[in-house]
Amino acid sequence: MILILLGPPGSGKGTQAKRIEQTHGLVQLSTGDMLRAATDSNTEFGRRVKAIMDSGQLVPDEIIVEMIDRRIVQTDCRKGFILDGFPRTVPQAEALDAMLARRGLKLDHVILLDVDEAALIDRLSGRFTCGQCGASYHDRYNRPKRDGVCDGCGGTEFIRRADDRPEAVKARFEVYRRQTAPILPYYRERGILRTVDGMADIDAVTHEIDRILGSA
Ligand code: ADP
Ligand code: ADP
Ligand code: ZN
Repeated sequence: MILILLGPPGSGKGTQAKRIEQTHGLVQLSTGDMLRAATDSNTEFGRRVKAIMDSGQLVPDEIIVEMIDRRIVQTDCRKGFILDGFPRTVPQAEALDAMLARRGLKLDHVILLDVDEAALIDRLSGRFTCGQCGASYHDRYNRPKRDGVCDGCGGTEFIRRADDRPEAVKARFEVYRRQTAPILPYYRERGILRTVDGMADIDAVTHEIDRILGSA
């Protein structure tokens, strides 16, 4: 199964992808996490990409498309994958169609997490993520079961992202409206876009997604 989770920054894509990964045996492919891992290395490329990300702008399509194209052929993707944070532009959506077609693969679902923007600022300003596995938590809405210990991997180091600061968040919303929202009609026209109420609590959102995936 190949699934895209769409939605603005903070809509819950990462949180839900981690859950679907567990319950459906799929792999989460988060372009944000992949880029953050790449920018850990102290190279010229890493510094350039990090500067773009910290400002809330998009990394060039060619870099992202190549990264995904290499990733989906790895053996752990054979049972299927969840695209979290990709595609983010119409050219990326077109490139995805082409790379899937080339390999005889087909996109099964595109799920939009629908949320209102006021809530997102609150979600992003309270977000912290596990430094080891990337799981997302929130100061108020989603704390780890044991303070300071990741539920998923037992990691004890957490990160607050530079681009979750209010200035960068504003830029990211603007980028979403201008560059990412135009991919919604692209999928709507193909009849595979489904919308889920992303304002519901985390379990309720998971339940809705499971219904769409046909297992609840
Ligand atoms: P969010 O929590 O906003 O969904 P991500 O972790 O998915 O954030 O992405 C963080 C940043 O990484 C983006 O603001 C952008 O700079 C870069 N990025 C991630 N995915 C893509 C993509 N598909 N195309 C271009 N840039 C991307
Ligand atoms: P995205 O990957 O779309 O940027 P995340 O999954 O990282 O979003 O979620 C953003 C923040 O909101 C995190 O702090 C997360 O714990 C919290 N969150 C996710 N889903 C919900 C929800 N349905 N209700 C309240 N908070 C949520
Ligand atoms: Zn973890």
